[in-house]
Order: sequence, then structure tokens, then C-alpha cells
Amino acid sequence: MIIDTHCHLASAQFDQSRRETYVQHALREGIDRMITLGARMDDWEANTAWARQFPGAVFCALGIHPDDAHDAPADWADQLFRKAQDVPLAAIGETGLDYFHGAPQGWETEQFHRLQQDLLERHFDLAERLGLNIVLHTRDRKGSASFEDALAIARNYAGRVRPVFHCFIGNTAQAMRIFDELDGMVSFTGVATFKNAPVVAETASWCPENRIMLETDSPYLSPEPLRGRMNEPAHLIHTARFIAAARGMNLEDLAHVTTRNAETFYNLGKV
Ligand SMILES: [Zn+2]
Ligand SMILES: [Zn+2]
Repeated sequence: MIIDTHCHLASAQFDQSRRETYVQHALREGIDRMITLGARMDDWEANTAWARQFPGAVFCALGIHPDDAHDAPADWADQLFRKAQDVPLAAIGETGLDYFHGAPQGWETEQFHRLQQDLLERHFDLAERLGLNIVLHTRDRKGSASFEDALAIARNYAGRVRPVFHCFIGNTAQAMRIFDELDGMVSFTGVATFKNAPVVAETASWCPENRIMLETDSPYLSPEPLRGRMNEPAHLIHTARFIAAARGMNLEDLAHVTTRNAETFYNLGKV
């Protein structure tokens, strides 16, 4: 059994009238649990509804994506804190730093990055207050400034809030800093299977087995051989098979260790 630790089931790309079908597809491939991430305030409710509809199979985490940092109302953290009283959350997120997309109209680049950093710190504060871990997204157009800045913020919470760098595409030296400096985790998407991203496959094959988790990030990033089609949790099996082969492990062993890692990181026994 495998856990899809990061998908966006409330996305409009999933036909919301066919929810059972997506869960059935996943189960058929041995993906028995999934964590759906609300990354915009207006989809928090829809994500928690998925978790309520499929108890024990779908769990949810909520946050605000850095691309939307400028739209967050002043009381977003209070709203999220209150939400966490009603619905058990698996983590805070997704949130993070995204320097890939340009700043929105009316914002200077530097100013918008500072706003994202402030938003990220407040997510860490909230995670600490709630006793939860945090799901981080970092993305750069070139270089690794968002990664470095997120690492610096996370370091201030080391030992109190553990981060996962989701859709990890960094090299082994970067992964090692996440493990050594932050006691953090990395999770891999279908990007690991892409022929034009050999560094990701290399990192996925190198990481210690207690540090890795698997995710689809669906509806985005379908793995090979389904690249280009809409992604869904069932497709995680292709990424799992690819990474197992790259590590020289059998699929069952990879499923076992990544499931145990996800249960611990997301506290799934208690959610
Ligand atoms: Zn992301
Ligand atoms: Zn995501």
C-alpha cells in the first residue's frame, strides 16, 4: 500500500461528480491513502469536504500558496487556526516561496518575495502552535534563491516544526542540508521519471530511505509513461516503480518505507 502524500483533489481539473472513481482508481493500483492540499483559502472547504467524505483514505492539509501571498486577508492565520479546530489536519501547507512566477501587478519583485517570506514565517508559527509539520513549495526560474531562503526560515524552527520540500528537484547536496540542518524530508513527483530531469532520479536514488515520500502533485505532473495527460493519485504507481528500480529496491519495500515515513510525518495514526 502506498500513500500519495500530495495531491490537489479539490482542483477544478478533477471532475468533482466522479470523486469515488478517482479513489477507486487509486485503490486498484494500491494507493490506499492520499493527502489533499488546500493551497488557496477558497479551496480549503472543498479539500476538507474530501477528507470528510473518505475518512481513513483522504486526509487534508491547508495553507496559502506563495503565488497568492498578496491576496491573503489580514486574519488568514486566525481563520486557519479555527479551521484546524474543526477538521483534523495532517499538516500546514502547502505554502513556501515561489520566485518562478513574476510579481503581481503593482508589486516590485523584491517586495513580493519579502511578502512571501513573511507569509511563510507565519505558516511556521501556526504549525508550531498546532503541533503540525509543514509542506513547502520552492521554485526558481534559475539558481536556488527560493530554496536557500526557505531553508533559512525553516532553520529558525528546527527541532520544533519539520518541513517536507515537496516536488523535490534538487541535488544530493541540497537534500543533505534538508536532512542534516532541519531534520526535514523530501517528496518526489513524476518529475523523477522525466528523461530531461536526470538529477532528480539521481537524488531519489541516493536519499536515505527514512527521508523520502512519494506524491503525484496531481492534477499536475503526470509521470512517464503518462506524461502530458492529467494526473491523478492512481498514477503514483509509475513513479513508485521508477524510484524503486532506480534505488535497486523492490516495489513492496519502497512502498513500506515511504508509507511509514508518511504516517510519521503526517501523524496519520491520529488524524
Ligand atoms: Zn507545489
Ligand atoms: Zn502542490
